[in-house]
Amino acid sequence: MAKILVIAEHNGTALNPSTAKCVACATQIEGADIDVAVLGGSVAGLAAEAAQISGISRVLTVELADNDPAIAAIWAPQIVAMAADYSHVFGPSTAFGKDLMPRVAALLGVNQISDIMSVDGSHRFKRPIYAGNAIVSVEAPTDSVVVATIRTASYQAAEGGNSAPVDSASIDVELPAHTRFVELQTGTSDRPDLQSAVKVVAGGRALGSEENFGLIDKLADKLGAAIGSSRAAVDAGYVPPETQVGQTGQIIAPDLYIAIGISGAIQHITGIKDAGTIVAINKDEEAPIFEVADIGLVGDLFALVPELTDALG
Ligand SMILES: Cc1cc2nc3c(=O)[nH]c(=O)nc-3n(C[C@H](O)[C@H](O)[C@H](O)COP(=O)(O)OP(=O)(O)OC[C@H]3O[C@@H](n4cnc5c(N)ncnc54)[C@H](O)[C@@H]3O)c2cc1C
Repeated sequence: MAKILVIAEHNGTALNPSTAKCVACATQIEGADIDVAVLGGSVAGLAAEAAQISGISRVLTVELADNDPAIAAIWAPQIVAMAADYSHVFGPSTAFGKDLMPRVAALLGVNQISDIMSVDGSHRFKRPIYAGNAIVSVEAPTDSVVVATIRTASYQAAEGGNSAPVDSASIDVELPAHTRFVELQTGTSDRPDLQSAVKVVAGGRALGSEENFGLIDKLADKLGAAIGSSRAAVDAGYVPPETQVGQTGQIIAPDLYIAIGISGAIQHITGIKDAGTIVAINKDEEAPIFEVADIGLVGDLFALVPELTDALG
């Protein structure tokens, strides 16, 4: 029987929705026994939150000052120690998981399976390749632990309502001293987080300047949406890199995605494949974005976007 350890992602005070999405993936493995590991400096509240995720048997806590903030190099050997009791170790395909899970896999001497998007069996999974243009089935050996990242855009978060027991894990491993936390620099914004936002308004190269990107901000404010962008807009310095959507940016699955002045290169589209409704505004009716858009507006964004923003009252 599959025994799965899901590594909780959190910011020290609240769980990231990616945790319940990893659990949703784990529950697709028939008969799986699922535990959630919460590592951190002070984890009681986080563990209580994790205990509510439906489908899990247990929450395992590892409370250690060194675990706050999360540093992949510090967490990985502890997860490796826990992995001895499990057939699978899952983490999210977020920046957190992409940093952590390869270290876990390397220390265990196994290959990581990246971006699981569906489960075909306990050791057989589907994942996207070629920027999401092809889906491949991969089979992991059954004689070693499966270390995998879960494509969070492919899963709805597992529901709450559970009250799983919380146990503290005792781990005796030497922690590396070669990596230490120096400083965290983050942008401050009242807007929803791009990764988990229900609505996203994104702008591309066509905006032409940081100043003009204010048009995107205004529309996003009216809709209560997060801001996204194409790589061209980031490279041109109109917006910070954390807004980039796509293959080398964030893979997102909002209910509504509005792409403004974005051509729809495959590397961008791969980031929005799982979006609910895609609206595109582009002056070129041949732009590839219209092939994936549910609603397309052909016209000049500098006329259409203010009109749309005003119409929202
Ligand atoms: C390895 C690799 C990884 C990459 N990863 C990413 C990624 O993660 N995300 C990403 O976005 N890209 C990525 N790219 C880049 C990608 O290939 C494109 O270059 C990029 O997405 C183009 O951005 P854009 O659509 O804003 O610009 P453009 O392709 O220049 O498109 C601008 C669009 O705006 C329209 N337009 C112009 N003026 C107006 C106007 N006034 N009103 C309305 N429409 C107008 C044009 O018709 C055009 O369609 C990657 C590329 C590579 C090689």
